Amino acid sequence: MMFHTSPLTYEQWLRQSGLPRLEGRLLLQACCGLSHAQLISRGGEAVPAAQWADLNALAQRRRNGEPLAYLLGWREFYGRRFRVSPAVLIPRPETEHLLEAALERLPAGGRVWDLGTGSGALAVSAALERPDAAVRASDLSREALAVAQENAETLGARIEFACGSWFEAQPAAAGHFDILLSNPPYIEQGDPHLQQGDLRFEPAAALTDFGDGLAHIRTLAAGAVRHLKAGGWLMLEHGWNQGPAVRGILAENRFQDVATLPDLAGLDRITLGRLPD
Ligand code: GLN
Repeated sequence: MMFHTSPLTYEQWLRQSGLPRLEGRLLLQACCGLSHAQLISRGGEAVPAAQWADLNALAQRRRNGEPLAYLLGWREFYGRRFRVSPAVLIPRPETEHLLEAALERLPAGGRVWDLGTGSGALAVSAALERPDAAVRASDLSREALAVAQENAETLGARIEFACGSWFEAQPAAAGHFDILLSNPPYIEQGDPHLQQGDLRFEPAAALTDFGDGLAHIRTLAAGAVRHLKAGGWLMLEHGWNQGPAVRGILAENRFQDVATLPDLAGLDRITLGRLPD
């Protein structure tokens, strides 16, 4: 793609950026420090020379496929802006269903643990929606936990953080939690999606178990039994074709009322079950 070397107006830059208008606008706003309203009213002004090189470099990275969320440094989840970096999975709208399923089942003053919290999108949203709840968030990655902690601080959420693999993150008293939730790495090794779009730039260990896609789900279902209260819920996000397998894994671990909830596209997305009372 050819670029004008002479400065363009904001509006002209947007039209020749080779990006979808929304993406170009967000990069322009971030780089030039403009609100959407300012950009509209000043669209005929020239892009400042000081920002010209940075702006075109960002646009080039986006055209090369880098996720918009990493270039901006944020992504919205459940109506709030979360900081993201290449150390964390970019929060997805489908995951909002997992949050809602948890909010619906969380008793007053309940305890919830988000395992593999990444950016903290689930844990921070749960803590802010339900200030009465006690929320724990853990992750194997220290870099991810730092991002989650920053999000908790910026957004004003009170959360207990722990570092480690799944239930090893911090031994809790057995029967402690009302809800365990996780959006674990569930993509099967070799799935072509791993080579497409944003996924190429996200941490592989946040996306796949490097196996059949169900390894972490088995670990979570087996360990959950020791960490849930009687009647407590385990809720897991998974792939569109994993519903029957995940229901089977929960049933094998003696979970009851096992069910799969669809996402807005009608695809199997979340499976949940509760321990006997
Ligand atoms: N819990 C985070 C999310 O849902 C991160 C999940 C992950 O890294 N697999 O966005």
